[in-house]
Amino acid sequence: MSTAPAVVVVGSGLAGYTLATQLAALGYPGSVTLVGEEAHAPYDRPPLSKEYQLGDESAVALQPALAPRVRFMAGQTVVAIHSDAREVELADGRRLPWDRLVLATGTRARQLPGIEPGAQVLTLRTLDDARAIREKLRSGARLAVIGGGPIGLELAASAHQLGVKTTVIEAAERLMARSAPVAIAEILLQHHRAHGVQVELNAKVIGIKGGNVELAGGRRIEADLVVVGIGVVANDQLARAAGIAADDGIFVDALCRTTHPGVYAIGDVTRQRNPISGRFERIETWFNAQGQALALAQQLAGTPQAKPYDDVPWYWSDQGKLRLQCAGLNQGEVQASRGDPAGSYLLGQWSAGRLVGVAAINSPHDFNLLRRLIGTEENITPEQFTSAPDLRWLQQHHAPP
Ligand code: FAD
Ligand code: NDP
Repeated sequence: MSTAPAVVVVGSGLAGYTLATQLAALGYPGSVTLVGEEAHAPYDRPPLSKEYQLGDESAVALQPALAPRVRFMAGQTVVAIHSDAREVELADGRRLPWDRLVLATGTRARQLPGIEPGAQVLTLRTLDDARAIREKLRSGARLAVIGGGPIGLELAASAHQLGVKTTVIEAAERLMARSAPVAIAEILLQHHRAHGVQVELNAKVIGIKGGNVELAGGRRIEADLVVVGIGVVANDQLARAAGIAADDGIFVDALCRTTHPGVYAIGDVTRQRNPISGRFERIETWFNAQGQALALAQQLAGTPQAKPYDDVPWYWSDQGKLRLQCAGLNQGEVQASRGDPAGSYLLGQWSAGRLVGVAAINSPHDFNLLRRLIGTEENITPEQFTSAPDLRWLQQHHAPP
């Protein structure tokens, strides 16, 4: 029998799946157990608001399938961590011993205070949620989405393509307040309105009656289905109960270590130091979940490539035919743009003379060139950003023309 530490991973989302898969690929000699609350094999969440709604079920498949040497326990909830005994307890009372415990429990959708979820009021986080929504998105139906973040806007774009009459209700004065710069929010607003999605800003929901959403000021949005997309809450309760430091997110260092020896955390559930802002934040993106998992796998397997994880945060969001990509910070001391807001567009942010953020609309190639500069010694000035005829010189690390 192997004497390598036994690894138990709690949560079979992208982070848990990637860790288990990578440990197997690296030939990790110890046992690897992946425990997932959901009844499904690991699947990918981004398509749930996009391709899956448009009928492509295969889009959610994660490749490769879990290796046979990973013990996968589906439909099992871990209810307690017994740190002294180095065991986790399952809902049915069984206990699993571990030498290294990895918490990859992700987040859950935040509920609207005072509003009961039900058949007509749903949230979108899981495959089961996505299926329930898809069944109701029929041509001619009316959808109200509460929340103008990525969930609300991606779903609105998909629903609109299905012929569903869609309204987005946002409490703030702008869209994507948490995750995109102001100028980008304005472009998104124009994009969705131009495609026939109704967008209500500064709209306070005071109740939902029979599917109809009641707004402060007496307005009513009639709907057959309401989807609430107002952010997420970290599934950190197991960690907190075990005395591991957490505050709507489990605190980890760049080696994904929690405050408890032998216990690690990865993915959306973590609160980690953002290398650009310097603050401890929850970074709720696909690439962060994957990146932390890959880095932790190298570390647990003891490979020479093992290193701390400090990648610059970035995400993409496909909203109909519009692809938004954002990296680094949404705000800087100086801002500059290039391109056409109605076509391909780039917005950069600078602080202390350094590029600290970039947002792109339908400009993936230039976005990738620019995102790699953030947090490095290389730089581009706002003037070069705006006036260079093209950005190909960044590819060769040359001086601007
Ligand atoms: P999760 O995916 O939340 O997985 C955690 C898993 O742990 C869940 O299956 C949960 O059931 C399980 N679990 C929790 N508690 C327990 C327990 N006690 N016992 C056992 N299991 C437990 N990001 C992007 O960058 N771009 C996108 O376009 C994008 N689109 C998205 C679209 C949608 C609809 C959603 C919901 C998210 C999207 N994201 C996107 C975000 C991205 O999917 C997440 O960042 C990623 O899924 C995080 O992975 P995770 O494994 O950390 O957490
Ligand atoms: P966000 O927190 O990004 O956005 C929620 C939006 O809802 C915010 O603009 C918020 O405004 C607004 N809001 C909050 N309360 C109310 C209210 N009572 N009435 C109306 N609006 C309200 O979360 P999402 O739900 O969009 O996304 C959830 C998770 O899914 C996140 O982890 C996200 O990263 C992930 N995801 C990522 C995608 C991507 O990266 N492409 C795509 C889809 C999901 P305010 O900020 O003012 O509170």
